[in-house]
Amino acid sequence: MNKKKISIIKIKNNEIERAVFKALDLIDAESLFNKDAMRIVIKPNILMSKEPERAVTTHPEIVRSMIKWLKNHNQNDIIVAESSGTSSPGATEKAFEGSGIKKICEEENVNWTPFEKTERKKYEIKNPLVLEQIVSSPLLEEADLIINIPKIKTHWQTLLTCCIKNMFGTLILGNKAKTHARFSTRDAFSSALADIYSVSNPQLTVIDGYLCQEGKGPSKGDIVKLDLILAGFDGVALDAAVCKIIGLDPKNVKYIDKAAEKNLGTSDITKIQFLGEDIKNISRKFKIPRKRPVSVPLPSWLADYMGNVVFRATVRFDPNKCKLCSTCWENCPGNAITPPEVIKKGNTPNWDRKKCIFCYCCAELCPYEAVDFKINYAKNFLFSWAGVFFLVIIGIIFGFLLWILL
Ligand code: SF4
Ligand code: SF4
Repeated sequence: MNKKKISIIKIKNNEIERAVFKALDLIDAESLFNKDAMRIVIKPNILMSKEPERAVTTHPEIVRSMIKWLKNHNQNDIIVAESSGTSSPGATEKAFEGSGIKKICEEENVNWTPFEKTERKKYEIKNPLVLEQIVSSPLLEEADLIINIPKIKTHWQTLLTCCIKNMFGTLILGNKAKTHARFSTRDAFSSALADIYSVSNPQLTVIDGYLCQEGKGPSKGDIVKLDLILAGFDGVALDAAVCKIIGLDPKNVKYIDKAAEKNLGTSDITKIQFLGEDIKNISRKFKIPRKRPVSVPLPSWLADYMGNVVFRATVRFDPNKCKLCSTCWENCPGNAITPPEVIKKGNTPNWDRKKCIFCYCCAELCPYEAVDFKINYAKNFLFSWAGVFFLVIIGIIFGFLLWILL
């Protein structure tokens, strides 16, 4: 089996099944079956309860096509598993329902489960970058085959969410918030994502590039009908390929290199054998979220300073959209959000800048798209030590000029 094969198939006339089957057959995915009745875990992206047309979750018809393809190859021991983004009880069940994936599982007669409804299993991470262990479901080690079905979306914090980031959902409910809190810089969080991915390291990935999100992804971005299915065995290579398709430099998606550093795959696009569509013909530049890493080469301490201070966002709540549903304050890993004093229409939650770790969970999870982030670069700079230093230097220069002129 050539692990570096990636197929790219265009979905024509919304014929999803045809595209998924073709993508899998082109890479000879059947070669993964080394015995009958393998235990197969499918991990879609079911971030929250959103209808498929909003492009937040893996499209249910792609999950259905995957199940049908497996059954066509006499693989019937299939379970679809996920842990949604929120930590309130029953959230994942609701997300399964709202995303349409529960219905698909029932119609196709396969099991589905929230990871949190299984037993717990502690996994030690080999050669950790930052995270020594995670607690997840024993399903990850019981599975003979793990199939990752992520969706292409831009992401506030990591710029892209697709293959590697999707396995963050193997952490159970509140553990996600804790991981955000513990690894609050983009660099550390990217390392944590690579560590988490290494636990499951899915043998097969089928990417939902049907309805995607650009801009303010992963839950309130603009929808892009990209009409693509990608399939392959190397999730790191697939993430790098997706970057190329959407016009994003893979170097800016830090977890790709972190995963390559852990030997989880290749980020070198020249080592990939592409099958199907030519990337040149199907590329479509996505709007990338504004919170970009510093792109000029800077010493790491200065880049970190710029990222953490100058690029720091302010959380805003839209009073017209906020329904005071409590999702944001119940799931904020930094305890930076509290309910307003009076729960009534027009009021919004309170936000504490000092406690905020800028994990973007609130924007990701708000079911009403009421949370926004605003970055005021000039104000952030002027109210930082660098800004004060800059003003002092300017003051000295002006003072000196005045002294010469007068
Ligand atoms: S901002 Fe969103 S998540 Fe927070 S209370 Fe309002 S509607 Fe709920
Ligand atoms: S306020 Fe939002 S961005 Fe800040 S820590 Fe809480 S969930 Fe994360």
